[in-house]
Amino acid sequence: MLLGTCRVNKLNHLEIGGCDTVELVKEFGTPLYVMDENLIRENCRSFLNSMRSLHENSEVIYAGKAFLTIEMCRIIEEEGLCLDVVSGGELYTAIKAQFPIKRIYFHGNNKSYDELKMAIENGVGRIIVDNFYELELLRDLAKKYPGKKINVLLRLTPGIEAHTHDYIKTGQIDSKFGFGMENGQAMQAVESALSIKGLKLMGFHCHIGSQIFEDEPFKDAAQIMIKFAKDVFDRYGFTTKEIDFGGGFGIKYRETDKPLPVKEYIQTLVTSVKESCKNYGLHVPKLLIEPGRAIIGEAGTTLYTIGAIKNIPGIRKYVSVDGGMSDNIRPALYGAEYSAIVANKANSPKVEKVSIAGKCCESGDMLIWDIDLPKIEPGDILAVFSTGAYHYSMASNYNMLPKPAVVFVKDNTARLVVRRQTYEDLLSAEVYLPQAKKVFLASM
Ligand SMILES: *Cc1c(COP(=O)(O)O)cnc(C)c1O
Repeated sequence: MLLGTCRVNKLNHLEIGGCDTVELVKEFGTPLYVMDENLIRENCRSFLNSMRSLHENSEVIYAGKAFLTIEMCRIIEEEGLCLDVVSGGELYTAIKAQFPIKRIYFHGNNKSYDELKMAIENGVGRIIVDNFYELELLRDLAKKYPGKKINVLLRLTPGIEAHTHDYIKTGQIDSKFGFGMENGQAMQAVESALSIKGLKLMGFHCHIGSQIFEDEPFKDAAQIMIKFAKDVFDRYGFTTKEIDFGGGFGIKYRETDKPLPVKEYIQTLVTSVKESCKNYGLHVPKLLIEPGRAIIGEAGTTLYTIGAIKNIPGIRKYVSVDGGMSDNIRPALYGAEYSAIVANKANSPKVEKVSIAGKCCESGDMLIWDIDLPKIEPGDILAVFSTGAYHYSMASNYNMLPKPAVVFVKDNTARLVVRRQTYEDLLSAEVYLPQAKKVFLASM
């Protein structure tokens, strides 16, 4: 499964961005996240062009939680996208990257007072309000900062849940995110937001799922959201200026995954928005989407060195790599599946079925079950594909494993973007006192 600039070269090695992965490993070590910069940029353009060609008044907002570094912010900005952040830490990263602040959208179901204050002081473009508590925090902050314009969207739950091929339209409102549309909370939130001086309601947001392989859910979301805009207009005379349809566009993790081309999702979404607007006699608002995985997922490949191999005759062969759930939590968290090749034997015939284990002290730390590979030996390099999204950003130091380095490759050059953590980094936040602090224990 060779995506983006992945190729097999004359040495039978996997090459990404014109860089031989065996050479990358020599220079940067393993585990290593390798990011295909051309593919990232291509994905950005594909979303932006698809949107703008159908509706000029639109924005593509990269969901930073998928993978966020200062360099990534820079690429996103160069490609003309906006940026979603979901915490003070992500906002800090974007600010450090000097990302244009007005193009930042601030999400989250439990933003703290301090995070909201940080967002307002720095002047972020939009705050996507999730709940009534947040509206009250913003009421306070609007008083404290009368000079600041606080532009908000309200996050709504349209009762659609879509994950891969699972598509449920139950009108279910059992979600920790957003204001329920069916139970009247969404309308109540509109009334409340309109009543808060200093808050400027711009429109509405929804996010219906992730790794979605069909366009139908987006069509339904479009109809539900436009109907809501119509209801709000009828009730309050409020014109919706923007609607944000969130992310969730699927990608290829395995050969058998068949996501739609980007322009098909977008075509369906924009067409149904326009149709609904026409039916209700509404002006088509500014349209926003927030792809995360679909921008960065397929652009990432993780390289590991093979170590211990344990054969249990008649049962299974376990092949261990020098990373695992610390750099890829998705198999343990969601049962995610991946495809992989031996990078230094890229086109060699597949002769055995093995299972790829991580090195963490958990039986559940398995990266891939039952994969066909060439004859594999300690020292070989395993390349696991589509590890760009929710890998580095979800990486942990479990078992005190240092986080891998991140390298961006493009046109035969590799740039180190995040260096590998050192053992010292692992202890850098620890505070230890020269003398034990006195602790009073209850007498037993
Ligand atoms: C996670 C998330 C996204 C991005 O989802 P992908 O599946 O990576 O496209 C977009 N918007 C919101 C609000 C999210 O929570």
